[in-house]
Amino acid sequence: MRKIQMVDLQSQYQQIKLEIQQSLSEILESAAFINGAAVKSFQQNLETYLAVKHVIPCANGTDALQVSLMALDLQPGDEVITSTFTFISTAEVIALLRLTPVLVDVEPDTFNMNMQAVQKAITAKTKAIIPVHLFGQCADMESIMELAKQHNLFVIEDACQSIGADYKFKNATSKKAGTIGHIGCTSFFPSKNLGCYGDGGAIFTNDDHLAKKIRILVNHGMEVRYYHDIVGVNSRLDSIQAAILDIKLKYLEKYMAARRQAAAFYDNAFADCDYLKTPSIADFTNHVYHQYTLVLNGVDRERLIAYMAERQVPVMIYYPVPLHLQKAYKDPRYQSGDFPVSEHLAANVISLPMHSELDNEQLQYITESLLNAVEICKL
Ligand SMILES: *Cc1c(COP(=O)(O)O)cnc(C)c1O
Repeated sequence: MRKIQMVDLQSQYQQIKLEIQQSLSEILESAAFINGAAVKSFQQNLETYLAVKHVIPCANGTDALQVSLMALDLQPGDEVITSTFTFISTAEVIALLRLTPVLVDVEPDTFNMNMQAVQKAITAKTKAIIPVHLFGQCADMESIMELAKQHNLFVIEDACQSIGADYKFKNATSKKAGTIGHIGCTSFFPSKNLGCYGDGGAIFTNDDHLAKKIRILVNHGMEVRYYHDIVGVNSRLDSIQAAILDIKLKYLEKYMAARRQAAAFYDNAFADCDYLKTPSIADFTNHVYHQYTLVLNGVDRERLIAYMAERQVPVMIYYPVPLHLQKAYKDPRYQSGDFPVSEHLAANVISLPMHSELDNEQLQYITESLLNAVEICKL
């Protein structure tokens, strides 16, 4: 059996090695490393795939979020609502821009923002909402957009974990994650569902005015070379990463299907186990399984992880500490106990190996190991 990994980028590379090498060799020969044709090509192919008017490539997903906020002309102290159970980037960029992060709890089944909580969090100072489509399924975008319209708020989708996921509207139409709000953001970090071989990211929008501003912001605030009209940043996707992504984009649907197959294997194996709660999918979205995350019910998590490590099965905790309990984000507004769902999840989730290259032998071994671990570690 091949060694089990959380993400197996080596095996995936072997499948596309010749194509990648050919493409990289062309870029090395051309020496068009920055803003080369490969970047334009990937941008256009991603626009087509997502059915979105503008894709603006940038250096990483965190920059995508930061630049999106910069494009909205917010003032220090303006409030931005986001989830407390997620990766740090959203709260980080809000804080860096001297805006005020307002955190909300999540749904126990889908791990995405709780709409009652969002509604309650809106004040006269609220200017934007950043829903995170966590682990690969969409947050309740239709409700979020309605609320945003009522209160005149911007919506920036954090689609770093959910590229390719479909949001289904009540009228039976659907759109890709990240293309529903005013702006959407994604990351091409190597382990993401569409990952490059370094750092990368992109911003999506259907709004021409925002697109123009964002293109200027990622390029030092300059439209005409060496004339800087606004304060910007330097955030680019380089040609080598764009070429890799252009190749991997062709296989994204295939990678997604493989992830869904692995998820179905897990779902089936754990269906009768009362100690493991398998992922639920909201009816307005499908799931691209960036992570396959279980909630333990009456199991000693630390012991279980140690047992799995002995059996050479890696498991991870995404995420062990909600944002309101992170040291750097300590705030008198928030105490331990304020977001009970997120705190419960932080204490009880585990994520299993999930990638496009898991075979049945590995899946069999992982599921057997976990069911054994549960028997030994139940409280
Ligand atoms: C990965 C990730 C980011 C940040 O992306 P980087 O490219 O690593 O900066 C932001 N938000 C979420 C939810 C992520 O998973």
